[in-house]
Amino acid sequence: MIQATNLNKSFGTLKAVNQVNLNIKEGEIFGLLGPNGAGKSTTINLISSLLKADSGSISLNGIDLNTHPILAKNSIGIVPQEISLYDNFSAYDNLLFFGKLYKVDKTTLKQRIDEILILIGLENRKNDLIKTYSGGMKRRINIAAALLHKPKILLMDEPTVGVDPQSRNRIFEVVETLNKQGLTIIYTTHYMEEVERLCNRIAIMDTGKIIAQGTLKELQEQSKTTEKVALTFSAISKEQFVAFKKAFAFEIQQIENTLSINCNINKDLSTILAYCTTNNIEVNDIKVLKANLEAIFLDLTNKQLRD
Ligand code: ADP
Ligand code: MG
Repeated sequence: MIQATNLNKSFGTLKAVNQVNLNIKEGEIFGLLGPNGAGKSTTINLISSLLKADSGSISLNGIDLNTHPILAKNSIGIVPQEISLYDNFSAYDNLLFFGKLYKVDKTTLKQRIDEILILIGLENRKNDLIKTYSGGMKRRINIAAALLHKPKILLMDEPTVGVDPQSRNRIFEVVETLNKQGLTIIYTTHYMEEVERLCNRIAIMDTGKIIAQGTLKELQEQSKTTEKVALTFSAISKEQFVAFKKAFAFEIQQIENTLSINCNINKDLSTILAYCTTNNIEVNDIKVLKANLEAIFLDLTNKQLRD
C-alpha cells in the first residue's frame, strides 16, 4: 500500500534519511522504531509530502507521489510529533477549523467530529478551551484532527510522548479500533513496548538507516539475541573485564560498567555471580533481558534505545 524506494534526505551534510526502503501492506500497523534523531519524523514527513526527498520515490497503491501530490493529502492523515492546536479555541472549534482545511463539507464534518470525539473519549470536554487540556488530552485532539477527512492511511509520529498513562492507554485503544476499521497505520516511537503491543511489522531505524525490518518473530530470528543477563558493577577495570571474558565462553558486550552476557540464565547465572564474589567484583544490578526489541536493538547498534 505504501512503498518507499531508496529514499534519501539530507540537511546540509547530515543524512537524516539514508537509502530507506519500506513496503507497508494494507491493514497493517507498521512500527518505525528508533532513538531520537534516527530519522523517523523525516521519513514520515517525506511520506506525507511535507518534505521533498533528495532522491528516491514513494508510491501509494502504485501511484507515484511525486507526480500526484494531492493524492497524498487526501488519503493520508498526519498526527505530527508537535501538537498543533489553537490554545484559545475549544476542542470542537479546533476540529471544525482542521476539517475545513481538508474541505470536508459542514454536515459531514459535524457528524464526523461527534463520532471521533466519542472514539477518543473527549465528547464531554469538547467545548472547553484547549489551554485547559492536559498534554494527553491535547494529543488525543491532535489525533482526531488527522481523522476528519477519513484518510485510508494514518501517520502517527510519537503520539504518546508526554502523555499521562490514562491517555496513553486510550491512544492505544484508538489505534487498535481505527486499524480494525481498516486504516493502515504507520506508528513511530522510541518506546519498544508500544511497537511490541501494537505493530504487525516493525522497522528499526538508526542514524537515517533501516537496520532491520520484519515481524517481531522475524526480528528475533534474524538477531543473534537469545537470552541475556545484564550485570552492572560499581566498577570494572580493564584487567577484570579481560579476565572475566577469559573465564567464560559467553559473548559479552560492555557499556560502561554494565556487561550484557549471552547465556542460559537458569544454568549460568549462579556460576557468573559466584565468579564475581570470588573476584571481588561488586554487583549493583542484575537485569534479565529476553529477546525483546530492546535487546535486538542493542545487538544491532551497540546502543541502548533509551537515552
Ligand atoms: P527522529 O524523528 O527519529 O527523532 P528526525 O527525523 O527528526 O529524527 O531527525 C533526524 C536527523 O535530522 C536529526 O539529526 C535531526 O537533528 C536532523 N534534522 C531533522 N530536521 C531537520 C531540519 N529541518 N534541519 C536540519 N536538521 C534536521
Ligand atoms: Mg521525531
